[in-house]
Amino acid sequence: MSFPLDRSTIWPYEDAQAGELYYQRNAHPVGLEAERRLSELEGGRALLFPSGAAATTAVVLGLTEPGQTIAVAEQAYYGTTVTFGFLERWGARFVAFDQTGPPPDGADLIWVEAPSNPHLTMPDLDSAVAHRARVLVDATASTPVYLRPLELGADYVLHSATKYLSGHHDVLLGVVACGSEDDTARLLEFRTRTGVVAAPDPAWLLLRSLETLELRMARHTESARELVRRLEAHPAVERVRYPGLGGMLSFDVAGGAEAAKHLETSVTEILNATSLGGTRTTLESRARWEPERVPANLVRLSVGLEPVDVLWDDLNRGLSR
Ligand code: PLP
Repeated sequence: MSFPLDRSTIWPYEDAQAGELYYQRNAHPVGLEAERRLSELEGGRALLFPSGAAATTAVVLGLTEPGQTIAVAEQAYYGTTVTFGFLERWGARFVAFDQTGPPPDGADLIWVEAPSNPHLTMPDLDSAVAHRARVLVDATASTPVYLRPLELGADYVLHSATKYLSGHHDVLLGVVACGSEDDTARLLEFRTRTGVVAAPDPAWLLLRSLETLELRMARHTESARELVRRLEAHPAVERVRYPGLGGMLSFDVAGGAEAAKHLETSVTEILNATSLGGTRTTLESRARWEPERVPANLVRLSVGLEPVDVLWDDLNRGLSR
């Protein structure tokens, strides 16, 4: 039985009293059910947002004070650093650091990504949680199937639920799970007052997707490991980055930007598109978005659920010129 999709924005008072459900900006049944399931998965209190970027914004504006310093992994998702740059107008301060080592002194919030997109580095979580600052782990690419940061001492875990949690390239959502009730209450208050609320329809699709999360992640990982093995042995591939889990990897194609473009335009089964974490495999040269941060020949691959030999034939054809 699937969870009923209630799109109401209002529910009648009982005895002229507002209960948990009275206006959709405060709470709605599908959102509450999705948050209950996500809370179980994370071992904390999860809140839904309309996108990963909205979740990022809510953490910065809702859980830090103007003038506080956020130490962000220099390898973190490019869009997160762009969002941070935008938020500097409201008094937020950011410093970049290499997440494979200890975070800088003086930080109030440490922001790491496990693994980072698209460099695939894992953070030094022991050093991060030993720091006096609060710690946020963006675990979009590992998902709670492989990593539960709250159990390792982190204060917050963030997801672009657009990726693996929803998993079908048809939902835009974000999640923040907090370890403490106080932080959850502050973030919920911020969400309700500013109205950055996820609607029932995407929340319903997320609930559908969570049913298969574990199975999907196992398959993404199995296929990614096999493709990594074959890519590493391919003469047209200079370097492969993969942390050993999940479906995201990146590799450098011999022949520079031109060779990367050839691969992008040759694939027929794999989608030459952005984003990651879906059932369909996607691939793109990241230099189109972040040329100052990645090699011109770096290609990010999000391995989907197709047969691995179909994916390999497509890649192999695009790599052989
Ligand atoms: N965090 C990571 C690691 C991401 O890859 C992304 C998007 O690619 C985001 C956050 C932002 O999420 P969204 O696109 O859902 O706003």
